[in-house]
Amino acid sequence: MTPVATAWRRPVVLLLVRSQPARTRTRLFSTTPRRLDVYAFIGLGQMGYQMARNLQSKLASADTLRLYDINKAAVQNLVKEATSQQVGGVVIQGSDSAEDAAREANVVISCLPEPEHVRQLYGTILKAQKPSSKGKDASWTAEPRLFIDCSTIDPSTSREVAASVLATLPNGAGQFIDAPMSGGVVGATAGTLTFMVGTPDDHFSRVEKILLRMGKQALHCGPQGSGLAAKLANNYLLAIENIATGEAMNFGMQWGLDPQVLAKVINVSTGRCWPSEVNNPVPGVVATAPASRDYQGGFGIGLMRKDLRLAMEAAEDKGVKLPLAEVAADVYKSAEAESRCKGRDFSVVYRWLGGKE
Ligand code: NAD
Repeated sequence: MTPVATAWRRPVVLLLVRSQPARTRTRLFSTTPRRLDVYAFIGLGQMGYQMARNLQSKLASADTLRLYDINKAAVQNLVKEATSQQVGGVVIQGSDSAEDAAREANVVISCLPEPEHVRQLYGTILKAQKPSSKGKDASWTAEPRLFIDCSTIDPSTSREVAASVLATLPNGAGQFIDAPMSGGVVGATAGTLTFMVGTPDDHFSRVEKILLRMGKQALHCGPQGSGLAAKLANNYLLAIENIATGEAMNFGMQWGLDPQVLAKVINVSTGRCWPSEVNNPVPGVVATAPASRDYQGGFGIGLMRKDLRLAMEAAEDKGVKLPLAEVAADVYKSAEAESRCKGRDFSVVYRWLGGKE
């Protein structure tokens, strides 16, 4: 190979023009110029803080990451942590408002507790948009601005917000995507989350690249709203399996079965499920399960109650019968009302059932 051909194959060279404003700075590649990306991350709670930390560590040098949370301390802590450990040149900025964080950002990621927070956040962000921003943005990027919501909310609220994004940023200027996740705080910290994504086909590969900076897989579930439908269907099933596993373990043990033996039987038989195999509710059966550390950590019973409620609301929206849901919701509600169960992993329903510990 000639020296000229070798040079042509060298990896991309970055040249930063720092004196220009962020949205017009260009990263000059050996082939075509590429603008620098501005990300906004909104909602730095248990999940969001860790996700934003992973995102910043994997962003390209000299991209910008803006952070916002109503809790100013979370913003300050992450800016401090990211700045002190920073590798590469990503610019981290704390923002004073959601509008400031999202202004002209190519990618906005949100991770908020409840549907009303998501509705309110995007109401605020969209109000601050100039209606003509399509024409303006199109001059520097052909790609739509992405609004990726990782919150667990109901699909109807998500579709409502998606419709307001389309109305404010029409003709492909903006796309709202639902990308709820599983993997918990452990997965968020390790960057091993699984995202369930609802978006039109043509946006998925771009969305996937972004999500893989915070997780290990992104599953395309279908059009907008499908990620949440998948997430709630899964968590509904989990809510029922968790209670049923607690009941079955308690039942067998009351008949004198050793819990290890019973779990072994179930886990090679048709009753096998994640609560029986990985998150067994009986202390000592699975050493790494929350039950073996007094139900600390894991997936909080409050979060399970929330997801079950959202699944029930989404079922009602479509006229779907979920006859077990009411019973399950009562079980979680009664268990959470007891101080020995409150704030613990959802497998603590086994304790509420009176299971032997
Ligand atoms: P969290 O309550 O710890 O964090 C939410 C953050 O949002 C807080 O820092 C809060 O200050 C901030 N916030 C609230 N309203 C805001 C607003 N209007 N603008 C900006 N910031 C705002 O919640 P979390 O555990 O991080 O969960 C976030 C989402 O992820 C939820 O929808 C939850 O159901 C889902 N989820 C959580 C887990 C988990 O294990 N924690 C697992 C999977 C999915």
